[in-house]
Order: sequence, then structure tokens, then C-alpha cells
Amino acid sequence: MSSRCPEIVDPWRVSEQKQAFSGSVQLGDLPRLSPLLSRTEGIADYQFLFSRDQHRRPLIEGRVEATLWQTCQRCLTEMPLRVDSGFRLAVVQGYDEAGQLDEALEPLLAEEGSIRLLDLVEDELLLALPVVALHDQCEAPAFYDEEISVDEPRENPFAALKRLKKTD
Ligand SMILES: [Zn+2]
Repeated sequence: MSSRCPEIVDPWRVSEQKQAFSGSVQLGDLPRLSPLLSRTEGIADYQFLFSRDQHRRPLIEGRVEATLWQTCQRCLTEMPLRVDSGFRLAVVQGYDEAGQLDEALEPLLAEEGSIRLLDLVEDELLLALPVVALHDQCEAPAFYDEEISVDEPRENPFAALKRLKKTD
């Protein structure tokens, strides 16, 4: 199954045939994702299953797995993000059709009647990335500790809590 994964598919044709594809891609080969990573070695594994919904629209059930490395913006050490993400997309031909979809389905606009599977893989990985990469708790010395405390809003509830503790 993992061999012969086509780069571009016609979703109407492969969904009629209920085709499934799986494969893997080097993270460094994903041009929108790789600049956001601290390491571009490693791979993403993916699977796609095509079928039709009750309105005969092509339906794509996909899964993407990868470990993405980013730099924590607080302590500047690397941190891994394990991604194991499933998604369901319905292929539509226009925005009107996209508005009619069930909430559980994401619309995918297929321009020119074809879709590129690696674009879907890359989109899913980009969605999994946090807006800012931060450890829950940094282990390394926090170089920016002082700056962060200066930026705290005045009405920070924790500040009030600290004052209470000090009076003990
Ligand atoms: Zn950190």
C-alpha cells in the first residue's frame, strides 16, 4: 500500500473507486512547514481513504503522524511536538456547496478538479503547530524571566495571591 502513492489525484475518480493511499514524506520537502521547524530531518507518515458521502461528494478520511521539533520561545531549547491527527474532508466545487456541509466535515475546494495529497499532509501539520512554541514548564535557565515579569498585566490575579501569601 505504501508504494505508488500518487502526487496528484482526481478526487471524483479515486473516491468512486474507494481508493486508499499511504506513504511518507520528508519534513524538509514540505516548503511551508519546514521553515517553522528547528529540525527538518524526519518524516511524516500519512494515510488517505477516499469514498463518497450521501450527496455523492468525494469524502477524504486522512491521518497524519509526525514528530515536529521547534524552539521554545522562552528558554530557546528544542522541544518535540508529537502529531497524530485525523481529519475528514469533503471535496466541494464552490463556496455555496461548502456552506451546506455537516459540521463534522471540513470543505476542501478542489480547483481544476485535482488535489495534491502532500498539500493536505502539510496543511494538517501546520494546523497542529502552536501559535508560539513554549514548554509547559521550561527546564533550562529562563533567560527571559525578567522581561516576562515586566510584561505581566497589573490586574494579574496571581500578583494578588502573592501579596496574600507574603502577609502570612
Ligand atoms: Zn522552554
